[in-house]
Amino acid sequence: MHDLSRRLPASAFRYQNGSLHCEGVALDAIADSLGTPFYCYSAGRLRERYRAFAAALAPLGVGIHFAMKANGNQAVLKLFASEGAGTDIVSGGELARSLAAGIPGDRIIFSGVGKTAAEIDAALASGVHQLNVESFEELRLVDAIAARRGVVASVALRINPDVDAETHAKITTGKKDNKFGIDVALLDRLDNEVKALQNVRILGVAAHIGSQIMKATPLIAAYRRLGEIADDLKRRGLPIERIDLGGGFGIPYRGEAELTPASLATAIAQTVAGRGYHLAVEPGRTLVADAGVLVAGVTYVKDAGHMRFLVLDAAMNDLVRPAMYDAHHDIVPVNEPAADADLTEYDVVGPICESSDTFDKHIRLPEMRAGERVVLATAGAYGATMSSTYNARALAPEVLVDGNRFAVIRRRIDIAEQIGWDQVPEWM
Ligand SMILES: *Cc1c(COP(=O)(O)O)cnc(C)c1O
Repeated sequence: MHDLSRRLPASAFRYQNGSLHCEGVALDAIADSLGTPFYCYSAGRLRERYRAFAAALAPLGVGIHFAMKANGNQAVLKLFASEGAGTDIVSGGELARSLAAGIPGDRIIFSGVGKTAAEIDAALASGVHQLNVESFEELRLVDAIAARRGVVASVALRINPDVDAETHAKITTGKKDNKFGIDVALLDRLDNEVKALQNVRILGVAAHIGSQIMKATPLIAAYRRLGEIADDLKRRGLPIERIDLGGGFGIPYRGEAELTPASLATAIAQTVAGRGYHLAVEPGRTLVADAGVLVAGVTYVKDAGHMRFLVLDAAMNDLVRPAMYDAHHDIVPVNEPAADADLTEYDVVGPICESSDTFDKHIRLPEMRAGERVVLATAGAYGATMSSTYNARALAPEVLVDGNRFAVIRRRIDIAEQIGWDQVPEWM
């Protein structure tokens, strides 16, 4: 028995009448009207994920700030906002997107290692809940800009706790030699430095040690460290009342054991809960990843003699994670395979002129034909937001399904529109 769809969340993606559906809508029906490739998200699954986190963390009084760089579509933000979420942002662009989706400033945390003066100014103008400051240089700049505005900025110090998140090197952020956060050893400079600053109020500490973390152990180490640092800074007279635990909660791309909301809640309960601090988390990937798929068409089944390639109409510009992080996305046919179908080995690739434009190698699928469709599973996080127009390709549209209806929530940005972005100097 082949159950190729087993790693798609069954509450959102199921075979019905021989073809893969998102909730009540056939992916083929969307593909027939829109063309491929496109991203498809299940609103029901987004709500289900958010509610699972909220239910586990609410008893501990933990605020949830969706790290919107994982998926910043206005419709997705509005959905989470209506569930009560705030956002964690990393740029002025994400600030504008949050505000446009109706998320008020006081539900926004601004993270990021290189905030510009203009971004800090815009954040203070919209009254953000908290700026997570990553260096003393940034702290001084925030103070100066806040002084000019005549306000006092609410600031948390992003600490580099020097904890190994045990994840991919490119998404590790909490080790001493990563660019993120303030080295714990430097905190001794704080007393003198901070006393002179009139327009910042350091009311929290924050950490975010990496992404796609699958075990509670590194999180527990980081949270414990943050709790100690918060206590220590309080003893030194800073008005610390908040601890921001960051995000990074992993999801099972290959069917690994999941870091569940319950185990996260336990990690928080064991370390920082119940000590009088307001707590927050910044989950991105875990709220959106498995609610989304990238639907692609098979352009060719290329017989290379010793092996076979599935050449898709989706490419690394649409979904860069395999090329960038060696990430794995299960590939599932839209047509339901017969239970006893023979499996064939394929390398699944895109059309771009780079060998890294490969989605997977040596995967076993039923016999595929040109014109059929597949989904790349677990593509709701860092998919559309990391897409580009490389090779003068369109930006793939995004679709939201809710029950029996679907809507295009970002149209395809086609080449005519992209050519219009360019300007030829008049002297040419
Ligand atoms: C990216 C990021 C997050 C979210 O990370 P996920 O792995 O998607 O949960 C949270 N906080 C900060 C500061 C980030 O940069």
